Amino acid sequence: MNAIIECLQGDIANQPDIDAVVNAANARLETGGGVAGALHRAAGPRLAEECRPLAPIRPGQAVITGAYALPNRYVIHCLGPVYGVDEPADVLLADCYRQALELAHRHEVSSIAFPAISAGAFGYPAAEAARIALSTVLDSLPELAGLKRVRFVLFDAASTELYQRTLDTLT
Ligand code: ADP
Repeated sequence: MNAIIECLQGDIANQPDIDAVVNAANARLETGGGVAGALHRAAGPRLAEECRPLAPIRPGQAVITGAYALPNRYVIHCLGPVYGVDEPADVLLADCYRQALELAHRHEVSSIAFPAISAGAFGYPAAEAARIALSTVLDSLPELAGLKRVRFVLFDAASTELYQRTLDTLT
């Protein structure tokens, strides 16, 4: 395994050196607040058009589309669990990362950027979401020849530090 895992502060809609960006989607694969709003705004209306026949998706599921006006090749849309509602939440959150990586692998993606799925409007406690995200990626990497870079893009400095610290404890 020689992929780089990195944790950067930034905007998931502005990752021009990355093949596939991951959307913290809603079940209807529509625009909204947070990550989904940022990606749909930057991609333009054709993203929503491609999404429409793929919806609804269920918690833990991922689907892949083009990226349109985004500077990437693909958007991989994951529906994270709503914390306290969709159970078992830890398994469903891990499924998102596993399925996204599997889709990336099938499409010969060499770099992928994830936001903190479920850690915003869906209410997942940040530290627990970070641990599940990073440990799932670390566990999956040996199966993913060709994937060279996995980036976690966090919106604020505190989350970025949390992800970096969590990564350090797991490696
Ligand atoms: P969910 O509904 O899955 O909880 P959200 O989009 O509400 O998804 O939030 C997920 C995480 O992404 C939160 O930590 C939020 O602060 C962060 N976030 C929001 N907008 C962006 C963005 N443009 N780029 C990266 N992270 C973002």
